[in-house]
Amino acid sequence: MTSSAKAVVAVLLLQAVSLVLGCYDVSTDAVGAEQVHWDYNTDGHHGPAHWHELKPEWSVCKTGMQQSPINIVAADMVKDDGLGKLDARYKAKINATIANDGHAVVVDLPPKSGALKIKGVTYHPAQFHFHMPSEHHIMNQSFPLEMHLVHKSEDGKLAVVGFLFVEGEESEFLAQFVDKLPSYKEPNVKSNIGKIRLLRQNRNYGRYMGSLTTPPCAENVTWTVMLWNFPTVSAHQLKLLSDSVPHTNNRPTFSSKGRNFHTSI
Ligand SMILES: [Zn+2]
Repeated sequence: MTSSAKAVVAVLLLQAVSLVLGCYDVSTDAVGAEQVHWDYNTDGHHGPAHWHELKPEWSVCKTGMQQSPINIVAADMVKDDGLGKLDARYKAKINATIANDGHAVVVDLPPKSGALKIKGVTYHPAQFHFHMPSEHHIMNQSFPLEMHLVHKSEDGKLAVVGFLFVEGEESEFLAQFVDKLPSYKEPNVKSNIGKIRLLRQNRNYGRYMGSLTTPPCAENVTWTVMLWNFPTVSAHQLKLLSDSVPHTNNRPTFSSKGRNFHTSI
């Protein structure tokens, strides 16, 4: 072996080692995340009432003062002229992948698929996923389906837009991928669903400060909930979604604890 060949081998070995180390780090994270099992089962010891016990970092699931979801009631609603129309713009067609993470059906979106602007901060859509039945309630009313469109800012802040669906006509939006829903039997297997158009948004909405509705229940999430012109979903589409995640996956609602629910109209 020539010295230059040795140098090439040395570089390749170094790359291989760093690849292995890289994989090791990733798998440690993955294993670390999987070590703590959580679910929505109200009878067991890993359901929403126990999330705070499962990991020290998840204590806020119980102690937090700004937890989500909430039951949106008239007494908490405050018309806020400062909200303005929703400033959200998305690419017309977005190349997306879908997976079933065991808790929900999740559709991942590529970086810079659009922008949601709130109080001077730009958030980019990262993924959307589904809860059945809805997590947010309105006047104690539950809905059959809720979609969360999750946005992140450059510095890691979160803004989530929630859509509550009523049963009725088939959803053209869901029809783009509802026949490609991944089974719960194959968790975390990503498949491409091609280019999709995001759900059309009403420019009128409500807003409050809340949290992630899954562990670690981190707070300081800016929530936008669509309150007018609820999108529809057909019974058949609901069936396909519930076949994919055959258990309820809604966290129970929390008291607003004095939080106002700001409305744009
Ligand atoms: Zn969610």
